[in-house]
Amino acid sequence: MTQLPITNERGFFEIRMESVGGFGANLAGKILGEAGILGMGYNGSNFSSYGSEKKGSPVKSFVRFCAPNVNVRVNSPVTEPHILVIFAESMLDTPGLLSGAGKDTTVIINTAMTPDQARDRIKLQCGSVVTLDAMKIAIEEKTRVNTALLGAISATSGFIDPEAIKLYIKKNLGKKYAFLIEPNLKTFDRGMVEFSKKFFDDDGKYPAQPFRREGQKIGYMNQPIGGVIVNPGNSIHKDLTVSRSGWAPVLIKSKCTSCGECDITCPDYCFEWVREKNKKGKEAQVLARIDYKHCKGCLRCVEICKFDALVSRVESDVDKKIIEDGFTELT
Ligand code: SF4
Ligand code: SF4
Repeated sequence: MTQLPITNERGFFEIRMESVGGFGANLAGKILGEAGILGMGYNGSNFSSYGSEKKGSPVKSFVRFCAPNVNVRVNSPVTEPHILVIFAESMLDTPGLLSGAGKDTTVIINTAMTPDQARDRIKLQCGSVVTLDAMKIAIEEKTRVNTALLGAISATSGFIDPEAIKLYIKKNLGKKYAFLIEPNLKTFDRGMVEFSKKFFDDDGKYPAQPFRREGQKIGYMNQPIGGVIVNPGNSIHKDLTVSRSGWAPVLIKSKCTSCGECDITCPDYCFEWVREKNKKGKEAQVLARIDYKHCKGCLRCVEICKFDALVSRVESDVDKKIIEDGFTELT
C-alpha cells in the first residue's frame, strides 16, 4: 500500500465531489471508496448527501482515506478537501462550491477550458487545477462523466491504483449492466490521460475561499407560525439547465402537429403553448417552444414524438439561438 501523499491533522486524505443528480457522483464516490478501502487496504469512509433522489437536484459525495491503524471517528462532510471534483461546468457559479479549497487542493473540473481559464473562472486563490472534457468523452463512449472523472482522480492523486478502481467499476456494474463495463473502462482510461493540470501559487490575484458554515437562519426567535407559507415556490427560480448531461431536445416546428404527446410526457412542464390559428387555419392550442430553463435533458419527449418533430442533439452543437427561441424552423 502506498503511503498517503498528504493528510490533515486527523490523518485523512479527503475528497469532495460536487454534482447534480444524473451525473453519477454517488456511484463514483462508492467506487472510489471501495477501491481504496476494500481494494487497496486503506481505512476510510464514503457517503453522499442529496435531497430528493432525482435528476437535477444537488449531490455531494465524500470520500476519506487514512492508514489502516487510524480509527475513523469522523462522519461529517469534507470541508477542506485534498481533491475537489466539480462534475459540471454549469455549476461553477454555485455559492460555496470552492469552500475550503487551499494550496493543498487539486480542483478537478469537467470542462473544455484550460487550467488558466478555469482558475480565472472559479477565482481560485492557489492550488492545482485539473481540467478534463469528461462530457465529450462520455458522449463519444456513450457513458457518463463519472468514470472519466474517476480516471483523472486516480491519475492526479498519486496513490489511487487505477486497477483497483477498474475492478470496482466492474463489480458495481455487475451482471446487470455487463454491457456497460467495456465502454466505462475505456472512459476511465481516457480520463487518466486526457486532462491538463497546472499549479497556481498565491499571486494575490484572488482571495482565499475558506470553509464557512452557514448559521441556521430560522430558530425559535424567528420561526414563522405553523401552516404559513412565507416563501411560496415559483418555477421561475427553478433552472434545470445544469442537469442536462450533454444532450438536449430540439423542436422542429415545421414538423409539429401540436398533438400534445410530448407535453403529457415531459416531467417538468417545459412545453409552452399559445392559442392561435393552426396549420388548418382553425383556432387551437399550438405548441410554441421548449423552455430550456426547465428542461433536464431526459429526452422522453424525443422518444414519444411520432412525427420526428423532436430530435436529440449534443447540446454544445446546438445553435444558441435555438436554445433562446426554444425551437427551430429548419429540418
Ligand atoms: S409530440 Fe411531437 S408532434 Fe406532438 S406536439 Fe410534441 S413535438 Fe409536436
Ligand atoms: S428532455 Fe423533453 S421531456 Fe425531458 S425535461 Fe426536456 S423537454 Fe421535458
